[in-house]
Amino acid sequence: MEAGGNSLPSGPDGSKRKVYYFYDPEVGNYYYGQGHPMKPHRIRMTHALLAHYGLLQHMHVVKPALARDRDLCRFHADDYVAFLRSITPETQQDQLRQLKRFNVGEDCPVFDGLYSFCQTYAGGSVGGAVKLNHGSDIAINWSGGLHHAKKCEASGFCYVNDIVLAILELLKMHERVLYVDIDIHHGDGVEEAFYTTDRVMTVSFHKFGDYFPGTGDVRDIGYGKGKYYSLNVPLDDGIDDESYQSLFKPIMGKVMEVFKPGAVVLQCGADSLSGDRLGCFNLSIKGHAECVKYMRSFNVPLLLLGGGGYTIRNVARCWCYETGVALGVEIEDKMPQHEYYEYFGPDYTLHVAPSNMENKNSRQLLDEIKIKLLDNLSKLQHAPSVQFQERPPDTEIPEKLVKPTINEKADEDQEDEDERWGRDSDMDVVDDCKPLSGRVKREYLEPKAMEDQKEVEYARETDTETKASYSGSMLIDEPQIKLEQDNINKSSDQPAEMNS
Ligand SMILES: [Zn+2]
Repeated sequence: MEAGGNSLPSGPDGSKRKVYYFYDPEVGNYYYGQGHPMKPHRIRMTHALLAHYGLLQHMHVVKPALARDRDLCRFHADDYVAFLRSITPETQQDQLRQLKRFNVGEDCPVFDGLYSFCQTYAGGSVGGAVKLNHGSDIAINWSGGLHHAKKCEASGFCYVNDIVLAILELLKMHERVLYVDIDIHHGDGVEEAFYTTDRVMTVSFHKFGDYFPGTGDVRDIGYGKGKYYSLNVPLDDGIDDESYQSLFKPIMGKVMEVFKPGAVVLQCGADSLSGDRLGCFNLSIKGHAECVKYMRSFNVPLLLLGGGGYTIRNVARCWCYETGVALGVEIEDKMPQHEYYEYFGPDYTLHVAPSNMENKNSRQLLDEIKIKLLDNLSKLQHAPSVQFQERPPDTEIPEKLVKPTINEKADEDQEDEDERWGRDSDMDVVDDCKPLSGRVKREYLEPKAMEDQKEVEYARETDTETKASYSGSMLIDEPQIKLEQDNINKSSDQPAEMNS
């Protein structure tokens, strides 16, 4: 592969980084329900691999503090957070209107411990952002990356948007934050939140065309001050490592050059891997991890998050390997014996060969997309700056450092096929709130009312200059950040390290 971005002062890419890894031993116990493709157990499988490959001892292992209501309400609506806190499988039948209103029930079911699950994965991502704000190089939260969640709506297996919350934390310290999304699905929730600001650039590489969530057209580029600060890379079935990197590296290289972010958040959704139960790309684990390696090479504080990924043995393989990349450690292909070893037969190796499926992305189409996006980037004359005020205090996340644990046995969770989620889409459920690729259309037709001053009305542009009002974006520069000051006490995120 070609050389990455900037060399490190201390030498090439293999140099050590200070890495924080957030993991809650409980996270693998949350269960979306029978047949649901989203399986938090994959996080525990990843952790077991990390333990047995000996990677935990190379990083600070931290149990995240639970995000509190007020932490979640930095992005989400108060009534939505109150709903998530109170709803239970037993009471949901009495809340049908609320369920529909918040899009909870089908793709995003109510399950035992739903709210503490949200607090756990959001706590890891915000905690990671706090670590980066305090001088760490890389923070990892494989339980995070739930990029579809909206301000007042669950979507695509996501309830709260830990990514938006983490970026808001990073914005306390950094003038500009870059978000990169390599999940096969468009990173719509994050894009929407920052659509009108130039302080966050979002870049999403995704399958586009008759595919959930339906947004992410190459022509969606941001609006107002945020114009040209949203980038969308629409791809087709079967994309392989070489095609993917022929876009990823030139585009991200240019983004780093012109945007000059103070921190990078990389959503590493593993449903873009070959053989994913819901995905249709053909990336190898090394091809996927090349994105991590490349973003790491710029030596900018980096938050690595999980996301989609529905062939769970491959998700664990991928995120284990990418943790090694973060650490600058190359791990061997032969897998160590561990409690989930039987998932990885018959080869028991870390890497799996991509398939021989057709790559529907023609060279010509890829080149056109690349030229279009590089042209958009050339319109950013210089990196914007903000008038900086006193930095708001950190979100108080008193997490614990934990000893690596390697023996949490999972309840068996076979990857049962279920017709509700076929291989081609995770949106097969007919739901009039959320038709396949219908979100954009619905927003044109039925703009939501302004709900409070945190929202800003804006229009989405297309090349035909169609405009529609749209809500859900955030005003980053002033009110959202100032809201913090009443809420949050002085920082207490003092590390209490046990292993490093
Ligand atoms: Zn996805």
